[in-house]
Amino acid sequence: MAAPASTTPLFAQYNGVKARYPGHLVLFRVGDFFEAFGDDAKLLARELEIVLTARAPDSSGERLPMAGVPHHALDSYLGRLVRKGYKVAVCDQVEDARLARGLVRREVTRVVTPGTALEERLLPGPDHNFLASVQLPATGPGAFAVVDITTGEWFDGVAAAPGVDALLAELAPFVPREIVVGAAAPTLAGLRTTLQREFPSARLEPAPVETSAAGLPSALAPPAAAGPSALAAAGQLAAYLRATQPRLIGSIERVVFAGADRRLALDARTLRHLEVTRPMNPDDPHGATLLSSWDETVTAPGRRTLGLWLRRPLADLAAIRERHDAVEAMVGRGAELLGLRSELRTFADLSRIAARIAGRRVHPPELAALRTSLETVGRLRAWVERAPEGALGDLRARLTVPAGVLERLTTAVSEAPPPTPAGPGLFRAGFSPELDALARAESDGMAQLEALERREQEATGIRSLRIAYNSVFGYYLEVTRPHLAKVPERFRRKQTVAQAERFTTDELQRVEETILSARDRRADAEAQAWEQLLAEIDPAVPGLHRLCRAVGELDTLATFALLAQERGYVRPVVDDSRVLQIRDGRHPVLDRTLAGQFVPNDTDLDGGGTRLLVLTGPNMSGKSTYMRQIGLLVILAQAGAFLPARAARIGRVSGLFTRMGFTDEIGRGKSSFMVEMSEVAEILRAADDRSLVLLDEVGRGTSTFDGLALAWATLRHLHDRVGGRTVLATHYHQLTELIQALPGATSAHLAVRETGDEVVFLHRLVPGSTDRSYGLHVARLAGLPPELVVEAERLLRSLEASGVSLPGRARRAAPTRYTQAILLASDAPAPSSAAEAALRGVDPERMTPMEALQFVTEWRRRVMAERTDGGA
Ligand code: ADP
Ligand code: MG
Repeated sequence: MAAPASTTPLFAQYNGVKARYPGHLVLFRVGDFFEAFGDDAKLLARELEIVLTARAPDSSGERLPMAGVPHHALDSYLGRLVRKGYKVAVCDQVEDARLARGLVRREVTRVVTPGTALEERLLPGPDHNFLASVQLPATGPGAFAVVDITTGEWFDGVAAAPGVDALLAELAPFVPREIVVGAAAPTLAGLRTTLQREFPSARLEPAPVETSAAGLPSALAPPAAAGPSALAAAGQLAAYLRATQPRLIGSIERVVFAGADRRLALDARTLRHLEVTRPMNPDDPHGATLLSSWDETVTAPGRRTLGLWLRRPLADLAAIRERHDAVEAMVGRGAELLGLRSELRTFADLSRIAARIAGRRVHPPELAALRTSLETVGRLRAWVERAPEGALGDLRARLTVPAGVLERLTTAVSEAPPPTPAGPGLFRAGFSPELDALARAESDGMAQLEALERREQEATGIRSLRIAYNSVFGYYLEVTRPHLAKVPERFRRKQTVAQAERFTTDELQRVEETILSARDRRADAEAQAWEQLLAEIDPAVPGLHRLCRAVGELDTLATFALLAQERGYVRPVVDDSRVLQIRDGRHPVLDRTLAGQFVPNDTDLDGGGTRLLVLTGPNMSGKSTYMRQIGLLVILAQAGAFLPARAARIGRVSGLFTRMGFTDEIGRGKSSFMVEMSEVAEILRAADDRSLVLLDEVGRGTSTFDGLALAWATLRHLHDRVGGRTVLATHYHQLTELIQALPGATSAHLAVRETGDEVVFLHRLVPGSTDRSYGLHVARLAGLPPELVVEAERLLRSLEASGVSLPGRARRAAPTRYTQAILLASDAPAPSSAAEAALRGVDPERMTPMEALQFVTEWRRRVMAERTDGGA
C-alpha cells in the first residue's frame, strides 16, 4: 500500500511496523482500538463488515482511510480474518500509556496466520489444523512436510512420482489451511494454481528466502534417504514456524507409525468424489460425508483421529489387523463400552491446552480442565487393562501421564482459577509462602481501610462517609455536599464530583501505600509464578500430545465398536489377495440416512478371472451409489472399521482412484470433456495391479462414437495393462458386448421392474447388462409437462420404427439415448456394425503386432458369433 503521507510520530511508528511486516495485515493499537490504515483499512472494512472512516486531513490535505476493532473483541475478529486466509501482525502497546514519556512504545506482539493459530477462537473446531510446506523441483518428485502445532504432530514424505499431481495426492489427506510453497521457477506458477484450486481456503505463503538446514531440529529431520527436496520442505517449514511461533517448535514431534509407509493412497479427487470428509456440493457445505455420518466420537482428539484415519487409511496388513482386533475386543464388552465413552466425554482437548502452554497463550481455567482430564487417564487405562491381553495393542502403555504434571497442577492451581492469570485466586493457598504473605499484607491493608472508614465516620459524625477507589486518584474519603461543613482540617481535597468532594488524609495515604505496594508485588510475584509453572510444564508438552493421541485412538476404536454393536456391522477380512468380495454390502452413509430402506448388494471380484465389472442400468437405478459404496467400504475396512455388510473379504488395496460425473468440476476452469480425459489419463498413469479404479461414465462429454471408442479403449487398457480391480458404470451398453472378448471382465446391471406404465427401481444388482434407459419415465417423474413427454414418446416411436443404424445395434431399433448421435452424424455415414466402429477407432500405426493380432482374432470371433446368433 502507499505509505500514509501523514508525518506525525504515531504514523512514523506505524510505517516502521508496516515496513518490517510486508504482506501482513497490520492491526495497530491506538487507545482502546486496534486500527488499520490505508489499503489495510479498506480490506478490514470489507472483510469484517465494519465501518470505514478516515483520519482528519494532514498537512498535505490527504485523508487516510481508517478502520478499527475494539481491543477486547480482537480474538473474534482475528478468527474471522485467519479463516479467510489472512496473515495478521498485531502491534500492541508494550508500556503503560500513563507512564510513557512521549510516544507509547509499540511492538508486534503476535503474528497470526491460518496455519499457526493456537487460540480456540482462531481454530475451525476440533479438526486438525495443518500448516504444510511443499517443494517441487524442476525434475524428480516433490516432497512435503506438514505440522499441526496445536497437536504437536509433524508428518513428511516424498511424492510417488514427479509432478504436481503426485505431490498433491500426498498432501490431500491433510487438507492444509496454509502452505509454504517452494519450487523451482518453471514449476512454481503451475504449483500455486493447482494448490489454490484444490485447497481454495488455504493461504499460500512464499518460501522464506533463507532457510538453512541448520535451523531444522534434528528431531524433525526426514531420513537422509528421503533426499534433498524432503530436507528443503522440512527446512522451510521449520523456518516459517520459527518466524511465527518460535516457542512451539520444541514441542513438535515427527509422527512415525509402524507400517506407515504402506497406505491406501486417496488423492484429492477421490477424497472429494467419495465425500470422505468434505461434501462435494459447494452449495451444501453441511451435506453428509463419511466423516459426519460416522462421527460418534466424544472427544476432540477422537474426532481428529477419525478424520485422519478416514483420509489416510492403512495398507499394511498387520496394522489393519491390529485395529480390527481392538474393535473386536471392544464390541465383545457390550455395555462396558458405554461406560468407557462416558469417561472419555470428560476429556478436554488436552493437546491444544498443552500447545497453548508452550505458546504462553493458555488461560488458568484450561489448566483446571487439563488437571481433570489427567485424572481420568488412570480410569481409561484401567478400562484398557480389562481387555484381553494384547487386544488393544500398545494403548495401555501409551495412556501415561508425563511425570510430575498432575502433581504440579494439583498443588499449584486453585480449584476454580480466574479467567486470566492477572486475577487473584489463581494459586492454591500454601503453594508459595511469598505469594501467601503478599496476599496477607494486602488483605491486612484492606482491613485497616475498613477500620479507618469506621473511625472517620465516628470522628466526623458523617455516617455516609465512604472510602472508595478509582484508578486515577487512588483511595479517597468521599463526603456528600450536605455534610461538607463537618469536614475537619486534616482532610485534604483530592477531587470534586457533582454531588460530593473527595479527600485524603496522612493515615489514608499510608494505608493506601501499603495496599498498593502489596498488590503490585503480588501481581509481579504471581506473573512470575505463572511463568515458572508454565516453564515447568513445558518439557511435558510432547508427552501430553502423545497421551492425547492415544486417547484419540481409543475414542475412535470405541466409535467403530459402538457402530458395530448398535448396527451389527461385521469385521472384514483384509488379506494379501486381490479379492473384493462383499455380501449384502450397504452404502455406509445412505445406510444411516435411509435407515432400513437401503437395498444391500453383493460385490464379487477376484482380481483375476473377474477383475473388471461393467455396470449398466437406467438413470437413477443406483449405479453411482453402488460404486461409491464399494470405494467407501474399502476405505473403512482399511481404516480399521467394521462394515455394514453380512461379510466382506478385501484383498489389500494400495490406491483408490475414482472418476465420478462432472458436477463437482464445473467452474474449475476446464471444459468437462477435457477434465474427464485428464482425469482418466492421470488415473491410468498412477494405477497399478493393487489399485481399485472406479469410473462413473467415461466418454460422456463428447459425441457418442468418440465417447464409446474412448470408453472401450480405456477399459481395455485397464484390463490388459493395469490389471487392478475396476468397476465402470456406463450408459454405453455396447461395452458389455465388447467386453465379452476380455477374459477378466464381467457385467452386471441394476434391476428395474416394469408393471404396465409403472417403472420401479429395485436398486438390486443382477448379472448381465441392460439396454433400457427409461429416460421418458424419469422425465415424467421429474415433472416435465405431460404434453411434452407425450410428444417425446411420439418421436421415440418414429425413430425406433425407422431403424436408424447405431454402433453395435445394426439390426435393432434405435433406443432413445442415441438420438444425439443421429443428430450429430454429419457427412460421415454412421458405421453399420460394431466391427466397423471398432475398425474406425483403431490406428494401426500405433498398434504393436501383438495388439493387431489380438484385435483381429477378437473381432473375427465376435463376427462369427453374431452369425450363429442369427442376429437375434
Ligand atoms: P444412477 O447413478 O444409476 O443414476 P444413483 O446411484 O445416483 O443412480 O442413485 C439414485 C438414487 O437411488 C439415490 O439417490 C438413492 O436415493 C437411491 N438408491 C441408489 N441405490 C440404492 C440402494 N441400494 N438402496 C436404496 N436406494 C438406493
Ligand atoms: Mg450416476
